Amino acid sequence: MGHFGKTRISVDELYHGIINHDRLMLSKAITLIESRRKDDISRGAELLDKIIGHSGKSLRLGITGVPGVGKSSFIESLGSSLTQEGHRLAILSIDPTSSKSGGSILGDKTRMEELSHDPNAYIRPSPAGQTLGGVNNRTRETILLCEAAGFDIVIVETVGVGQSETAVKDMVDCFLLLMLSGGGDELQGIKRGIMEMADIIAINKSDGDNVAPSKRTKKILENAVHLFPPHEINWVVPVSLCSALSKEGITDIWKDIESFIAMSHSEDFFKHNRQIQNAQWYRQLVDEKIKHAYFNEEKSAKYREIETKIIANELGVRNGLRKLFES
Ligand code: GDP
Repeated sequence: MGHFGKTRISVDELYHGIINHDRLMLSKAITLIESRRKDDISRGAELLDKIIGHSGKSLRLGITGVPGVGKSSFIESLGSSLTQEGHRLAILSIDPTSSKSGGSILGDKTRMEELSHDPNAYIRPSPAGQTLGGVNNRTRETILLCEAAGFDIVIVETVGVGQSETAVKDMVDCFLLLMLSGGGDELQGIKRGIMEMADIIAINKSDGDNVAPSKRTKKILENAVHLFPPHEINWVVPVSLCSALSKEGITDIWKDIESFIAMSHSEDFFKHNRQIQNAQWYRQLVDEKIKHAYFNEEKSAKYREIETKIIANELGVRNGLRKLFES
């Protein structure tokens, strides 16, 4: 973003703006941490260090589900009732499709009409980025900035089609999977692994003619849940019905979320989980840094050269490894 170069808001100004809940400053800060310019990166790091004591106090909720399942409608419905209760809600949308196609699943339509005019809600798309860790790191940092800006609930939304849901699972306290009725065996293209990550499952669009099929799907999913590996805490993943359209069932799902968080706290899992997530995040960054530092152009060429020989059976894998590291 070029305008940073011109105006150059100081880190101090951003910091004070954020802790005084200034949304414009929050937006500028997020743009700063998303920037790949060298001096922006170091200023971003400085800012993140400054706000560290002001962050961490929100409930971080992840929401995933296939395109069209009703994520934005659900968030609109849940979010409006939360802000009415006095919560301040930040919504970060990760769209893994946006970086590849230029088009985007999340961005094309007018989403969350009501919340986008709500002074207690803040909506921000989070770029998916190209590098493995890149995506998630920016989103993680954005969570911290939002918390420092006084948002007590942060929703991270992602399309359940790729890698991004694993990344989101690793940055939230509670992970909600939205599904649709029907699907039975193949379960609507949602991979089993994603279902296993869910703390709560909700079947959306349980309205009108869909109520009966939704109830059947609920039974199937409840059985499936029992076959999953046990949760880290004493928790059986609830499967609930809801309609983001009629707002039915939404409050009950919020109650499920609250129960889950309460249970997490009572078993000391909440804090432990965040510590593990932080350690993982750090680990990821180190891995990436090492890879970047090691795989310069020359190394990458060498890597491919050896790979070709390995594929052609001219060189054993073990020897290839030795050659790569000795050169
Ligand atoms: P997203 O792609 O997951 O964010 O899904 P959207 O929230 O954009 O919803 C996709 C479509 O499904 C829209 O046309 C919504 O109006 C519709 N929709 C969302 N929730 C419900 C629901 O609970 N019941 C019904 N009948 N339609 C819904």
